[in-house]
Amino acid sequence: MTIRRVLLLVLLVSIPATAQNRPAPARTELAPGIFLFTTPNYGDVGLDGNSIAILSRDGVLVFDTNGTPAAAAAVLAEIRKLTDRPVRWVVNSHWHWDHWYGTEVYQRAFPDVRIVAHEKTREMMRGPALDFNRPGLETQLPKYLQTLEQRAADNPALKTLLDEDRFFLEQKSRVRHTFPNVTFSDRLNIELGERHIEVRHYGRAVTPGDAFVYLPAEKILLLGDLIVNPITFALSGYPTEWQFASRRHESLIFPVSAASIFGSARTLSQSSRSGFTFAPAETSRATTS
Ligand SMILES: [Zn+2]
Repeated sequence: MTIRRVLLLVLLVSIPATAQNRPAPARTELAPGIFLFTTPNYGDVGLDGNSIAILSRDGVLVFDTNGTPAAAAAVLAEIRKLTDRPVRWVVNSHWHWDHWYGTEVYQRAFPDVRIVAHEKTREMMRGPALDFNRPGLETQLPKYLQTLEQRAADNPALKTLLDEDRFFLEQKSRVRHTFPNVTFSDRLNIELGERHIEVRHYGRAVTPGDAFVYLPAEKILLLGDLIVNPITFALSGYPTEWQFASRRHESLIFPVSAASIFGSARTLSQSSRSGFTFAPAETSRATTS
């Protein structure tokens, strides 16, 4: 049996085990019926965006759908523990893969689900986003896995990491890209059961079509990657417009704030210590995405 065949067998055997072994998403209740799910990293090759579920008596809105179908399925499994209502709405905050590559899971489970994004985000998803991801999937990540396989052959301690990295590539390569079927330009109001949910766009900040969700009654703001912990994307986005948008976000939520912070649920004020003055109050409440 050739080494290549051995590696293929290892790959085939290891994928389901890795999927089963991945920890469930961490769950944080931000407010009654509003839950943040934080997904573990994929080995050393991928972070995942967080996902937020807004429950109501008539159904669920999910804000961002993770970076892989497996992660989205894990989040959906958690949502099903909380409610038997359907997911009626999905909102994708922007075109970066870790916020929408799991959407297929929701469309499969709920064929009538409305998938919302800013009109420019949909344009990005239909072409540039796919081009952006192609070199990593087709060249860079496979090459890295080859070197890791060689290292793992001499060091069995690396096998778990190798399995996780392979799982990530396998997941991301098999995504069925599921595009928004509802777009908006400035604002979309959603009445979902007892919830009034506003999907808004304050101009480009991190991407051309950044969408955020505002719940005025709950005083919660879900910002996607508009605030990232500990370093914002401002320097790789549109810094001037980002600051302008940030001031408008701040005006929405003062004095009770909820910020979206990538990766871990730290407070907005902690995030601001990395060099950006944004937090309006020490009463900040963190949500992540
Ligand atoms: Zn992003």
